[in-house]
Amino acid sequence: MARYSDDDLVLTLVRQAGAVLDDLGLPGSFTLAELQARIEARRGRPIQIHPRPMPAEGPHGLWVAGERVDYVFVDAAAPPLRRAQIIGHEFGHILFDAPSAQGCARSGYEELIEQRCEWFGTVALQRFRLLERPGTP
Ligand SMILES: [Zn+2]
Repeated sequence: MARYSDDDLVLTLVRQAGAVLDDLGLPGSFTLAELQARIEARRGRPIQIHPRPMPAEGPHGLWVAGERVDYVFVDAAAPPLRRAQIIGHEFGHILFDAPSAQGCARSGYEELIEQRCEWFGTVALQRFRLLERPGTP
């Protein structure tokens, strides 16, 4: 895999993230809780977010699909904005990791999924209302 993905891919992933957020019926800016509520409504199951100590070498977040609940674990040591991005990244996994996509070549597929989720977390972070109030997490 190249060190940098090309700009066409980045643009595609950023646009895709924005389209998914729009498709969830979210306004121009929203809170993390609002995003969570829309994803819960779409999947018909609750999401529980648990801050936990994570190893320094990563991962910084983890999504575990339980039988009736989606669990998102996030590095308790991450500062608020980074934590919001990590949670957004894991929400990306919940939205994008469709079982039907599992047939792709694993290595390339996983790399693409990670990039897609990272950009989803970044685009979501840009739209989180917390950014309009500097200093207020
Ligand atoms: Zn990931």
